[in-house]
Amino acid sequence: MTLDRRTLLKLSLAGAAVGATAVTPVITPALAQAPKKRARWICLGTKGGPRVGLGRSNPANVLIVDDVPYVVDCGPGVTKRLVEAKVALPDVRYVFVTHLHSDHVLEFGNMVYGGWSAGLNHPVEAFAPVGMEALTKAYWESIKFDVDIRITDEGKPDPRKLLVSRDIKDSGPVMNNDKVKVTAFRTPHPPITENFAYRFETPDGVFVYACDTSFNPALAKFAEGADVLIHETIYVPGVDAMVKRVKNAATLKEHLLASHTTTEDVGKIAAMAKVKKLVMTHFVPGDDPSITDEMWAADARKHYSGPIMVAKDLMEIEL
Ligand SMILES: [Zn+2]
Ligand SMILES: [Zn+2]
Repeated sequence: MTLDRRTLLKLSLAGAAVGATAVTPVITPALAQAPKKRARWICLGTKGGPRVGLGRSNPANVLIVDDVPYVVDCGPGVTKRLVEAKVALPDVRYVFVTHLHSDHVLEFGNMVYGGWSAGLNHPVEAFAPVGMEALTKAYWESIKFDVDIRITDEGKPDPRKLLVSRDIKDSGPVMNNDKVKVTAFRTPHPPITENFAYRFETPDGVFVYACDTSFNPALAKFAEGADVLIHETIYVPGVDAMVKRVKNAATLKEHLLASHTTTEDVGKIAAMAKVKKLVMTHFVPGDDPSITDEMWAADARKHYSGPIMVAKDLMEIEL
C-alpha cells in the first residue's frame, strides 16, 4: 500500500489523539520530498494559572508560518520553552496575548528581552487588550538600568524602539501580512471583559485559539469550520482537590467555575463550530497527575465526534 505524505501525517496525528491506535509512519525518500507544510502550531505551556511547578509549563504557544514565529500568550516559562522548541528568540516577529492575567503575560517583556540579548534587530509587534501598551512601557522602565548600559556598552540597538505594542479595543481584524490574517473576538472571562480569542488564517488552514473564556456559544460561530480549535478547559471534579492544595484561595473555586469552560462544554463548542480537530489546553488543574488524558477528553467526546488531542508541552500540530 502506498500512502502520500498528507495521509501519513493524518495517521500520525490520529495516533496522537486520545483513544486512537498509534501508527508509526515510515517515510520513504520519495515521500520525504513532498512539499513541506508552511504552518504549524506548537503548544509550549499547557497548564492554566500562574503557579509555577514541575511538569506542564504556564500558558504559551507559538504558530510558525514559513519559519516566522507568532507567539501566542507569554506565561512564565515561555522563553525556555521556545528554545526547547528550537525557535530562535531573535526570530520572533509577532506576539498575541489574549488577556492580561499574569499566566498569559508575565514573561512577555522578558521573552522579548531574551530575543534582544540574542541579537534581535527587527521590529516586534505585540497585540493584546487595552493595558498592553502601558504594561510594555512599565516593563522597559523596570529594566532601564540594564538596557541603557548595554546599548552603550555592547552596541545593541534600543529594544524600546524595536518593540511596538498595540492595544486591541474591540473584536475585528488585528493583523494581516501576506501570509497570515489574524482576527480577534471578544469573549467573557469574568470578571475580565478585555479578553480575546484569535483566529489565525494561514496558507495551510485555520487555527482558532480560545483561551481563556467562560462557556460562550458565540465562539462557535467565530471558530466555524476551523481546521483546529485550541480551547481552554477545566475539569470540575479536579477543582475541589486543587483548591484544598492552594493556600490563600478562598474564592478561587467560584472564579474558576465562572470564568472557564468545562470539559463537557468544550465538546459542545467544537461540535457547534464543526471544527476538524479539537485541541484541549490550559488545563485547570494542570498539575494533578491523577487526571488522565482520557478523563480530560471523555466528557468533550459526548458532544464532539472529531479527533480530540489533549495538549502536552512542546506538542506540535500540523494542518
Ligand atoms: Zn489563564
Ligand atoms: Zn485568565
